[in-house]
Amino acid sequence: MAEIECPICSERLVFPQGEPDVFECPECVADLNWSGKHITGVKTNRNYLFAAGENFTSSFNPELFCDAINFANEVIDNDKRVLSELGSSSSNTVTEEAIIGQMDFNNNFRGFSTAFFAISLVCGVIFLMTVQDLAICLCMIPSLLALAISWGGGDRTEDLQLAQHVGGSYREGNGSGFIPESSVYTAYRWKNDTFTFRAFKSIGENHSLRLSHFFYGGGDHGSPSQGYTWALKDKKAILDQPAYDSRISTPVHNFERKDLLEDFEYILEIKNQLKKKIGVCLPIRIEFGSSQKKPKNIRKILQSDPELSELWKKLEEGE
Ligand SMILES: [Zn+2]
Repeated sequence: MAEIECPICSERLVFPQGEPDVFECPECVADLNWSGKHITGVKTNRNYLFAAGENFTSSFNPELFCDAINFANEVIDNDKRVLSELGSSSSNTVTEEAIIGQMDFNNNFRGFSTAFFAISLVCGVIFLMTVQDLAICLCMIPSLLALAISWGGGDRTEDLQLAQHVGGSYREGNGSGFIPESSVYTAYRWKNDTFTFRAFKSIGENHSLRLSHFFYGGGDHGSPSQGYTWALKDKKAILDQPAYDSRISTPVHNFERKDLLEDFEYILEIKNQLKKKIGVCLPIRIEFGSSQKKPKNIRKILQSDPELSELWKKLEEGE
């Protein structure tokens, strides 16, 4: 048997260990989804889901359930946001018309790409009889690509049904980052009355930030970008984070002294702002080893330059 607290009304409850089921709280009648080990979902007039599996145990502390549910309500009702330092959040309204418009576009694009594919198939056969194999590939690739994109667009029937069910439009959003005036790091998405947490974890002095330098050349279709990806680390595990919201972008440069100064000052500013806003000083370690564009002799530069090594020390400091 496992003793837990109802996250809605704090009633003490006893659930059978290892036997998954949905239980109703006798006090507040919330439905509690029990995995046999943790609560993975709570249903009142809203549905709160806590990502199960690996992320659940590493990123979610069951003692923070009440705080998590309060936060979810604040996000849905009052558009509460996470700090912009190492975080972002957004929300928007989805209307029935917008979904129908997108479905129409998808259908048209699907029709176009199918016709395009048929034409290129005919051309391919003609080329097969006349010229080389390479020509067939060249004329098939764009049409196959269009076909894949048009069918990979996803089905929005469910969204449409939801919008129609709730009167024509609903709200949705997502975010990840630190919650203002608390030391909690969270990652979540929500749609109408369903709020899904990927993480909700109190950050303390055992945690640190590990930054890894990155550089992408950009290629033909984009400009180069560089900066640092970051990960929150405790003594055991790195918190799960999708790549897009764990980046600090900097100007593209070649690690001249002034560039490194700017980078380090920028990162130190983020660290200081976080310390002021969440009350936790996170030591920062920067690694350059895995970057496509590694600075040469970075250790030597850091050691021989008093200003740079002073900044480096400030970044690494905890408290
Ligand atoms: Zn309860």
